[in-house]
Amino acid sequence: KELPSDTNLSNTRRKVFGAMYSYVKPRVPKSPKLIHVSPEMCENIGIHEDEVGSEEFLNIFSGSELYKETQPYAMAYAGHQFGNWAGQLGDGRAINLFEVQHNKKRWAMQLKGAGETPYSRQGDGLAVLRSSVREYLCSEAMHHLGVPTTRALSLMLSGDEVLRDMLYNGNAAYEKGAIVCRVAPSFIRFGNFELFASRNDTENLKKLTEYTIKHFYPELGAPSKEVYIQFFKAVADKTLDMIIHWQRVGFVHGVMNTDNMSILGQTIDYGPYGWLEGFDFGWTPNTTDREHKRYRYGNQPNIGLWNLLQLANALYALVDEAEPFETILNQYQKDFEEAFLNMMRSKLGLDFKKEEDQKLVEDLEDCLLLSETDMTIFYRLLSNFEKGKVENSLEIVKQAFYNPEEIQGKKEEKWNDWIIDYDKRLKLEEATDQQRQIKMNAVNPKYVLRNYMAQLAIDDANEGKYGLIDDLFQMLKNPYSNQPKYEKWFAKRPEWARHKAGCSMLSCSS
Ligand code: AMP
Ligand code: MG
Ligand code: MG
Repeated sequence: KELPSDTNLSNTRRKVFGAMYSYVKPRVPKSPKLIHVSPEMCENIGIHEDEVGSEEFLNIFSGSELYKETQPYAMAYAGHQFGNWAGQLGDGRAINLFEVQHNKKRWAMQLKGAGETPYSRQGDGLAVLRSSVREYLCSEAMHHLGVPTTRALSLMLSGDEVLRDMLYNGNAAYEKGAIVCRVAPSFIRFGNFELFASRNDTENLKKLTEYTIKHFYPELGAPSKEVYIQFFKAVADKTLDMIIHWQRVGFVHGVMNTDNMSILGQTIDYGPYGWLEGFDFGWTPNTTDREHKRYRYGNQPNIGLWNLLQLANALYALVDEAEPFETILNQYQKDFEEAFLNMMRSKLGLDFKKEEDQKLVEDLEDCLLLSETDMTIFYRLLSNFEKGKVENSLEIVKQAFYNPEEIQGKKEEKWNDWIIDYDKRLKLEEATDQQRQIKMNAVNPKYVLRNYMAQLAIDDANEGKYGLIDDLFQMLKNPYSNQPKYEKWFAKRPEWARHKAGCSMLSCSS
């Protein structure tokens, strides 16, 4: 409707003071089309099979229509990006639709890529198919790997074209727009707390903290200074647990900014993430981080701590004492070392705790670095080891080496030494080979969403073929089981994918 020229209406992007969120409506997409749904998520929120793909489903989860009684909003948050204070950020392309309670669980439904919000800054609020496929597939896969994560309900094409400057050749190009409906108990981040702290807005900081405790940490009880400290401890514990899982499965988040840290300790914001193929502490999939590699695999635990320190700084205003926070942060470091070692024991099939385990793990890491060694394949194959059969046992894991011919001389000796130590250590265990294998295979996945696999699914999807998305989705539901049908995906990254864009390194552009 045309408004009189003296009307002073504005609903554009801006700094928003004294608020936690802004009401905003999703943009109506041109011609939404459903690509995939997660049946398990449907069940979780109470959507019946028959309703999937209905007009209502399509309209609601593409943002075309709103339920009358709902008021979608975008959240305000701030954050530290790559170690620097970035000020106000907020949901720039995420819109919270509504919350659903089902089977005594509460889920927040959020559309990612549904258009501009007051927090969009320079962005368009949209998402492209490539990044949406990656978020959709990976978040569901992570759940089935047992890693705390946000979930995904649906993946849709918006029917709109989206301009991005980083496709495969650095030139601006139009890509297909897409919308993912992602789901979590809450999308509150460390950055929500940092925003209020940075404004000295203790009143809203307190409200937010009490809201978070009441709904997501109810076991902590009625708010008090002591409870705020316990809340911080609980967040630290959950964050630690999440990162240990990342290290276990070889997941590298790629952008562990404090605005990408869930207050529930769930993996959130799947951007330029990646999976370790060759084991390497220094690896990051994020091209934006190529120089400093701040968010490299081996640094994720430290960054977790650094991010928790920022959260502690934000919560400080509610407690007025630094010591309780310092104690918890120091404890994180100790807990991490213990939890990490226990996790590594489980990967190696060790039930008992022995002094020499630390060295066994470190020596193994040294071996894995001798020559490019596929982490996923290595641990999976190691479960075939037979106690007492040291001779030729390097053969068992040979498939994990990208260049098996490199394993000779000193390198081969080092490996053989490690196998002798491993065998000695296994002799202190009670489990049989078969029992050990079952346990190892329950923590060492056989199938993960390697970047090139996601990229193949994306290439197909860009041509309107969605079969591979479904195939990968089905396979990744059971990452720990042998699935003969999917045996071809239990393989090293092919050489063609080593340097291909999207297959190893990714940018933040999405
Ligand atoms: P990220 O690096 O994806 O965590 O994004 C950092 C901030 O930029 C968040 O506040 C996002 O909501 C925002 N953002 C990212 N992409 C877009 C986009 N296409 N349009 C608007 N805001 C965006
Ligand atoms: Mg983000
Ligand atoms: Mg993102």
